[in-house]
Amino acid sequence: MAVFCQRCGTGLPTGARFCSSCGAVVPVMQSVPGRPLVRPLVGRQIAGVCLALARSNGWDVGMIRIITVLGFIFSGGFVGVAYVAGWIGIPEEPMPMPGEYPPIV
Ligand SMILES: [Zn+2]
Repeated sequence: MAVFCQRCGTGLPTGARFCSSCGAVVPVMQSVPGRPLVRPLVGRQIAGVCLALARSNGWDVGMIRIITVLGFIFSGGFVGVAYVAGWIGIPEEPMPMPGEYPPIV
């Protein structure tokens, strides 16, 4: 997807932060509002797929889980396949680096 400077209209490479022509800041394009789609390490029940979808879209995770469980039962396996696909396809939330947080005393 092409990115264009909003000030001078110069075409920029995808992911550019600044215009190479006039130096204007390029707003970051986000396909999904809010958080990136990752499977959080904390708070997950099975693989974190429900939590990932809920967080990235601003949905209620409890509702997503109920829909997922009902889907498992009534969709004849489709939701199960989709869940496993999400498990494989959605990256895990990056591990916090050791020393990033103050040690718990
Ligand atoms: Zn520009």
